[in-house]
Amino acid sequence: MKLLMHTCCAPCSVYCIDSLRKEEIEPTVYWYNPNIHPYMEYKARRDCLKEYTASIGVNAIFEEDYGLDEFCKNVIGDLKNRCVNYCYRVRIEQTAKYAKENGYDCFTTTLLVSPYQKHEELKKVCEEIAEKYGLKFLYRDFRVGFREGQAKAREIGLYMQKYCGCIFSEEIRYYNRNQAKPDIPMDLKTVKEEKPQVKKIENKEAYMDMLLEADPSKASIMKYLNDSDVYGLQLNDEIISLAVILHIDNKTLELKNLVTKKEYRNKGYAKRLLRHLCGNYKQKYDKMIVGTTENNIPFYVKQGFDKYEKTLKNYFIDNYDEEIKDGNLISTDMIYYAKDLKKKM
Ligand code: SF4
Repeated sequence: MKLLMHTCCAPCSVYCIDSLRKEEIEPTVYWYNPNIHPYMEYKARRDCLKEYTASIGVNAIFEEDYGLDEFCKNVIGDLKNRCVNYCYRVRIEQTAKYAKENGYDCFTTTLLVSPYQKHEELKKVCEEIAEKYGLKFLYRDFRVGFREGQAKAREIGLYMQKYCGCIFSEEIRYYNRNQAKPDIPMDLKTVKEEKPQVKKIENKEAYMDMLLEADPSKASIMKYLNDSDVYGLQLNDEIISLAVILHIDNKTLELKNLVTKKEYRNKGYAKRLLRHLCGNYKQKYDKMIVGTTENNIPFYVKQGFDKYEKTLKNYFIDNYDEEIKDGNLISTDMIYYAKDLKKKM
């Protein structure tokens, strides 16, 4: 099967691509969205999709057509039915046309992931156009993975749009807020996940084993633990992440330890805990610093620790009995970066 997937944006593509790949179907992403306005919004969504598809190694084609005039001329007479009568059609038709001319035998669309779209009507439009072009329409009810895909998109920092696309949907989003919320079919409503909560930890030493995973020397931990505040992220009665914050002076804090239990890693819990703490501390403090190994610098820079402060030469050699590994390398220096807590992220 050679599949062309009309793609409206990066966040909606996340679950669609992941689930198709699970089925061992490799889609080619096809960007054609002359319905997205104004231009800076169009550009933000397109550029994010370009970056995302490159990062996950999926083939992507970008059909440039900003199309504001044409879009408005075609929908203005019947705004109520604009989605089904024009917007879906123009995008799906162009996708099918490209597929036919370029040897694809099948197409689908990421619009099928959104519970905000008119799913059944969209499906009918796709079926009609597939018949017209003699192609197969690959139907999947991607809505089952809508929340999962959006959560992953947020987690990896994709640009998350606030409205469907056209200027009329922007108006509904920001001007007329009384529009009815879309009705997600009952069988697609997922069980609400327990939200992790931030908790101040008093019995700090009880968490020594977990802290040792980020700082493997008990002697080193004991130097800062009692003078620090320790916070945990609690999920279903279990502390899954910890952050240890030392007060350096009345304007500066130091993040001494940040760790997440192995089975919960790479799900954004440490980031969530850190973001929460920075948000709270910024009322009183100006700056948070962190000393880290070379390998962890990109993680901290992404969290706003973007100002280089200093390097403590041979810190890990002089202060630890065992070798501290940084990927495949042995760590030697401790490198400090600072985050301006007052700066908007
Ligand atoms: S609301 Fe969304 S689907 Fe409907 S016309 Fe606007 S951009 Fe297209």
